[in-house]
Amino acid sequence: MTKADASNEWLETVAHDLRTPINLVAGCLDVIQSLGPLNDKQQHYLNRAFAGLKRMEHLIGRLKDITWVDSTAPLEVGNVNISNLIADAVDLLLEAAEQRSVTVRVHVARDVESVQGDTARLAQVMDNLLSNAIKYNRQGGTAVITAKREADHVQIMVQDSGIGIGIDDQPHVFDRFFRAPEGVRLKIEGSGLGLAITKGIVERHGGRIWVQSELNIGSTFFITLPFSPPASGTDAGIQLSI
Ligand code: ADP
Repeated sequence: MTKADASNEWLETVAHDLRTPINLVAGCLDVIQSLGPLNDKQQHYLNRAFAGLKRMEHLIGRLKDITWVDSTAPLEVGNVNISNLIADAVDLLLEAAEQRSVTVRVHVARDVESVQGDTARLAQVMDNLLSNAIKYNRQGGTAVITAKREADHVQIMVQDSGIGIGIDDQPHVFDRFFRAPEGVRLKIEGSGLGLAITKGIVERHGGRIWVQSELNIGSTFFITLPFSPPASGTDAGIQLSI
């Protein structure tokens, strides 16, 4: 077993073991809720406890995703319709966008159809890019997703009118646990793992990801996805199960 495999296995075990106490606490909170009625203060703290648990669940999911990126687990390759992929991400995040009064627009060129890829993993990519475009946006801003066909790949752009990323920080946004200072200062919740996972998934598909951004103007994240991912074994850690 390599050192990376051993540390993955360790992380996997920790993530799994953390779920047991989390479920126990969630169960207890449910009981407290059902024993109500609670006064406003009690309800407030109960809601905060529920929110904290949800965040822990989310973090555990992210840690598991990181172990997947580092592993040689195969992609589940199938036909991924790009319009549907984008529409599903928008559906999932519509409420979050409404809460921040962010208008989401989608432009998919007519000649963009499908790529071969792992639907669930590519859904994570879209979810991460769009949720960032919403949460790092300004109130009442816009998020625009554009997809176009190029030589041997599809290019997807996710553009926002948000807080932007400083030029010195841009090279680091795909690093694990990196968070740019603007988002931290504004207390926007995050783990700094989403883009590292997104990059890992895109690269596993043989694609590329990069960002262009200007502080206080907005950011555009670009990804390319080849029509087919590289054949098994041609790139580090890639195995396909078709
Ligand atoms: P997080 O969970 O912190 O959002 P990500 O890995 O998705 O983690 O992003 C890493 C960092 O990159 C974020 O903390 C933020 O500083 C910056 N970032 C990502 N997307 C955007 C965006 N659309 N606009 C501004 N900053 C962004």
